Amino acid sequence: MQSMAESILQPRPHLCQPRLTIPYSSNVLPAKRRSLCISAQQSGTAPTKTENGVTQQQTGLQPLIGRQKVDMYAEQAYLTARTRRIAQHFPTAIGVDDFLNRLEVALFAYGFTGDNSIAMSNMCRDEITGILKTKLDIVFGSSFNTNGLGGVLTCGVTGVKAGLSHSPISAGSGKERYVFLSFPHISVDAMGTLGAISRPGRPGQSCACGALNAALADIKATGLKANCKRPGEHEPLDPEYSILKQRLARRIRHDGGTDADLANMDLVDITKIAERTILDDLEYLISQTITSPSQADYAVISGVQIHNWGQSFDNQSPNLEYIAPSTVYTVVAGERTYLDLNSIPQLTPRQIRVLSSSAASPESSQIDSNLDEVCGSAGDTTTLRSVEPPYSYSSKESRRAARKRAGIFAQLIEEENLQISNASPWPGGWQSRISAKTHKLESDNSCTAEASSNDSILGDSAAEDIFLA
Ligand SMILES: [Zn+2]
Repeated sequence: MQSMAESILQPRPHLCQPRLTIPYSSNVLPAKRRSLCISAQQSGTAPTKTENGVTQQQTGLQPLIGRQKVDMYAEQAYLTARTRRIAQHFPTAIGVDDFLNRLEVALFAYGFTGDNSIAMSNMCRDEITGILKTKLDIVFGSSFNTNGLGGVLTCGVTGVKAGLSHSPISAGSGKERYVFLSFPHISVDAMGTLGAISRPGRPGQSCACGALNAALADIKATGLKANCKRPGEHEPLDPEYSILKQRLARRIRHDGGTDADLANMDLVDITKIAERTILDDLEYLISQTITSPSQADYAVISGVQIHNWGQSFDNQSPNLEYIAPSTVYTVVAGERTYLDLNSIPQLTPRQIRVLSSSAASPESSQIDSNLDEVCGSAGDTTTLRSVEPPYSYSSKESRRAARKRAGIFAQLIEEENLQISNASPWPGGWQSRISAKTHKLESDNSCTAEASSNDSILGDSAAEDIFLA
């Protein structure tokens, strides 16, 4: 079977870009290895047109590599190129495992561990954010989530207070410790397409973040003024989404933006605006819930979660996850200290592999031990490890294995000349035996009762108050 490294050395069009050759002439590849790179003319390889209109012949460094010797460098080069593509939009982006390990080191220095802190995670509701949630739960223990569409905070002080009240209490100092983590998200797929995300079992591509993408489109279509509603005002059938739109619109207006500026905004712009806005909202909620330095120490980490997956969920391109941290600080005994995670060295691939695999579930560990797993340095920026969703049924490996089995049985059906039919025809099987009468009357519905009550007694303004309460 073809290895990942072998396959990426073959001339697939989207991999034949000048960035792929850069590491071979830079610090990634030791000088003695450069002799393995010969010019395209020497190799007799036809020049390949790239997206920038530069041929690989023109770079003079067409890699012709003994695969058995330098596969590891091809993986590094590939991961470096993927990282540079992300860095065009998010210069601080590093691999998610690398980010969490650096963060753990930094917070440990200020007294925060998974044992003595509660993590307060805030992300979009999208299931693909669960990958980050699972990873940070491994580091900080099960987190209290305040998720909303696009990452918008709608839980209010009651929601935040609930999470804080679950914190461990240090035996010595009696202090509580909170780690607030807030990450709106975006997808930039392996080809660099903004917003495009492949999902397991779903053909084609969808969008991440769909809520931010839709909010940007709506604000562009209706203008800032229409979306700058009174704080807290929202649409009853769309509470989170309407609050998300008004928070974004108010922030754009606050930053001096106008309707004319909206035309040039793309998904990256609105994601960065969302990150700043949600951080502001989070800090305001913190100010309303933590009122005394003696109450607790806490850390605030805000950034953007970036899904950099293949164009198809289970094609050969590794699904990579990045975090672009923007604001990281601790408040210990009332004193705020900003932290620079880039000043902490990246972990080696072996360290990332060991830390990530040993903490994962048994199912994941089996996947992690698979030799096809991608885990390597991306230049001197970060270390990357391919991700799988935190459940094995939709992992790349399980889906490939299922297809392989299906192929075997399809062949057996043909070879053994079997007649196939639907084993469980619908309806008429066991489904008919478990059907039951309805559990409640249609009229027994609080929404129906509320709507009729609003219409007849309270009037429009009072109805609005109900939903604002
Ligand atoms: Zn989303």
